[in-house]
Amino acid sequence: MLNAFFCRQVLCARDGNMSTNNKRRGRSGSRSSVTGVPALVKAPTAMSAALASLFECTVCFDFILPPILQCASGHLVCSSCRPKLSCCPSCRRRLGYIRNLAMEKVARYIMFPCKHSNTGCTATLVYTEKAEHEEACKFRKYSCPCPEAPCKWQGGLDQVMPHLTMSHKSIETLQGEKIVFVATDINLPGTVDWVMMQSCFNRHFMLVLGKQEEFDGHQQFFAKVLLIGTRKEAENFAYRLELKGHHRPLIWEAISRSIDEKDDEALLNSDCLVFDTSLAQQFADNGNLRINVTISIALSKNRHIHASKK
Ligand SMILES: [Zn+2]
Ligand SMILES: [Zn+2]
Ligand SMILES: [Zn+2]
Ligand SMILES: [Zn+2]
Repeated sequence: MLNAFFCRQVLCARDGNMSTNNKRRGRSGSRSSVTGVPALVKAPTAMSAALASLFECTVCFDFILPPILQCASGHLVCSSCRPKLSCCPSCRRRLGYIRNLAMEKVARYIMFPCKHSNTGCTATLVYTEKAEHEEACKFRKYSCPCPEAPCKWQGGLDQVMPHLTMSHKSIETLQGEKIVFVATDINLPGTVDWVMMQSCFNRHFMLVLGKQEEFDGHQQFFAKVLLIGTRKEAENFAYRLELKGHHRPLIWEAISRSIDEKDDEALLNSDCLVFDTSLAQQFADNGNLRINVTISIALSKNRHIHASKK
């Protein structure tokens, strides 16, 4: 067992600007064959691009994908902009909820460019495959996952770990499926985060223990494990956190999350280990909290067992 600690107020003054070799494995932008897609999609690229441009939203410039809404004059509005609008951005007429079924059918025949085309992706996709491709697209930019650090860095998934190593040097990395994460001085006042990296299964995981102050002055701890990877990849790993007390342990098991998720997403969904200060005191030793972390491959069977325990 390895033992390590660090107390955060992680400082990251610099944005790492790393050069990388882009030899990441995983799905590339090239499109797989689509069953049931008519031959028209194989239309020349210029034609396909011209057709796709007819689906551009005049408000957000994203593509208008089914369900496609229009105003009474026929101007299209995308469904994410529609709730924010009371009148048509083109003709100012009042907007109802009129579907344009013909355009929805046409959309099925069009190859839409990936939304990361401005950063180099050349993939074009049928709309039903667009979101899935974009989630895993290798040209996609991720934000620095370091919690609450004033770091504006963004980069590809394969650049996240080099960035953390270069610009957040205080974050320690431990190797192995089972490690001990020691958070020191858990009684520090205010909002504090303790962060550590764990490498196993040829992947990197970020372990985060946070302390937050609630409105009523009540303090809460939360702990979670985030994969440096996509949301889909994160579903392949499970983690177990164990706090060993004098009499009994506190155990939390869950599927890992992705660094792609917003900061509070796990906390809002209560999908992380949450405990209060008095419980933390029961497990702390001289103000230090030891958390045994085990990462494993999530079998769908395990997921079922875990779910049925709740
Ligand atoms: Zn829009
Ligand atoms: Zn209109
Ligand atoms: Zn792409
Ligand atoms: Zn950073």
